[in-house]
Amino acid sequence: MFLKGKTAIVTGSTSGIGLAYARAFAAEGAAVMINGFGDADTIEAARAELATTSGAQALYDPADMTKPDQIAAMVDRAAREMGSVDIVVNNAGIQHVAPIEDFPAEKFEAIVQIVLTSAWYMMKAAVPHMKKAGWGRIISTGSAHSLVASPNKSAYVMAKHGIAGLTKTIALETATHGITVNCISPGYVWTPLVENQIPDTMKARGMTKEQVMNDVLLAAQPTKQFVTPEQVAALAVFLCRDEAASITGSNMTVDGGWTAA
Ligand code: NAD
Repeated sequence: MFLKGKTAIVTGSTSGIGLAYARAFAAEGAAVMINGFGDADTIEAARAELATTSGAQALYDPADMTKPDQIAAMVDRAAREMGSVDIVVNNAGIQHVAPIEDFPAEKFEAIVQIVLTSAWYMMKAAVPHMKKAGWGRIISTGSAHSLVASPNKSAYVMAKHGIAGLTKTIALETATHGITVNCISPGYVWTPLVENQIPDTMKARGMTKEQVMNDVLLAAQPTKQFVTPEQVAALAVFLCRDEAASITGSNMTVDGGWTAA
């Protein structure tokens, strides 16, 4: 339990990859603040499970990643109620699939705010706490789409490429402070985010569900397997180890070979 005494905030952790990060940090003894939307009872059950696993605090904060003041308040609350801000994971995300001429402007704005702008505000709020402590780990969930593009995902690809650049910049700014800043870039992971884009992709490309799964999603992934949330979370845990202290400013793929092709 090498994270005993440390704290982690994971945005967008009521589901999918974010919840897997929270569980993996808790399994190493970290106090965890989870965040995101969903059914109140389900969120409370996840929070309680995390506290039992870690033997430490587990809090839920409902901050909306489109609201900078709520982001700053969440980081302040973590510092106040958990005592420090050691690990921050920028993970909240949404997706919308449409050609640019049909892409609703409000969906574009929401994707950029939730996927990219929120990470800037999280880092702005967290870095002073980490500098004071002389230790910190900032991890952002990038995507294969931080490195390559797919049609009909203009907002998402733009935001994910942005997070790779933000990661490099803040890694340089914090490099002498015991802080590392990295992206983990998964390929397709079977979560609600992927499941929910299937109907839109069916519509945009005139395909059946099976065609979307095999000819669009897994077509990109040489392993022909979905990545699991636990595989992504295991890398985040490694990045928190002392052995990972020299890994900063990197964008690490967990994509079944997608971006090697
Ligand atoms: P998911 O839908 O299971 O989880 C998304 C989380 O973000 C949920 O907890 C949701 O409540 C939260 N969220 C959405 N809008 C929010 C807002 N305004 N404020 C706060 N929280 C909000 O999806 P996932 O697949 O686990 O995605 C997590 C991250 O992984 C995203 O950044 C996504 O882009 C990235 N990613 C996913 C895949 C994949 O194939 N699933 C691949 C690469 C990258």
